[in-house]
Amino acid sequence: LARELCQRSFAKKVFLCNSGSEANEAAIKLARKFGSKDGRYEIIVFENSFHGRTLGALAATAQPKFHEGFGPLPPGFPVAKFNQIDSVERLITPRTAAILIEPIQGEGGVRPCSRAFLIELRALADRRGLLLMFDGVQCSLGRTGDLFSYETYGVVPDVLTLAKGLGGGMPIGAMLGSDKVATVLGPGDHGTTFGGNPVCSMAALAVLKMLSPQMLKNVKQQEDAILKGLEPLARYPFVRELRGVGLMIGMELTVPGAPFVEACRKKGLLINCTQQVVLRFLPPLALSDSERRFAIKTLRHVFEHAQAG
Ligand code: PLP
Repeated sequence: LARELCQRSFAKKVFLCNSGSEANEAAIKLARKFGSKDGRYEIIVFENSFHGRTLGALAATAQPKFHEGFGPLPPGFPVAKFNQIDSVERLITPRTAAILIEPIQGEGGVRPCSRAFLIELRALADRRGLLLMFDGVQCSLGRTGDLFSYETYGVVPDVLTLAKGLGGGMPIGAMLGSDKVATVLGPGDHGTTFGGNPVCSMAALAVLKMLSPQMLKNVKQQEDAILKGLEPLARYPFVRELRGVGLMIGMELTVPGAPFVEACRKKGLLINCTQQVVLRFLPPLALSDSERRFAIKTLRHVFEHAQAG
């Protein structure tokens, strides 16, 4: 599995673990070890980020509602504004080791980075000797129509974390590292009992096989068709914005999203809602035309009903 991930990505080394949080914990430790020789330990993160619920990943998650009741959290995670390069630049100090970002925020409300911003982040990290780390836990593995979301943006990180779709339902996470960081963690620096276990690794290999060029092409075709289908709905007065990349699509409302989620569920369509007002659509990558039509039709009925009500 590690070899397959390396062959299909920028990576030189892979650390296998059991979840997205664990993959991010590994990335946090790697960044700290990388910076430790000159006293650097801070990792710049972003408003509305979500990196997991273990203490390190939680500290990197810049959403106060997830922190409540669990302090004190590990220090060293200054928070920059999303898609604003000046805000990142201002936070860099002699203590900064790395930047950690989701190319498309999921829990934060389906917010894609702009391509220009990621390109600037890459250049800034290189200029200042920082690691650029992408959390691809939610937005990689075909979601954007490429195997990894960094390919969609054309910006290569030093570290990439994966989980969720990687195991197709089996618990597995991975941290991928470039040549530059391949020797930062040595034997004994980090570890896991179950990481790389045969059952989950075989499941992940099967998933990678499923993520064929045809499957990725389907994602791009379905993206175009879904956006076309959702556009008329985005004109309803209670819709603020339609956004997303590939099959990771968000519709921000001006009203709470929960009643829409419930109404869709009653009609046999599963969607969810983040940040109280953002309807999040994460359909299966193998979505068919008839399933897409059903989803749009169902949403249209729910929207018409909401408008009338
Ligand atoms: N990172 C991102 C971007 C996520 O969306 C999530 C989960 O929602 C995680 C990390 C945490 O992954 P896990 O629940 O597997 O620990």
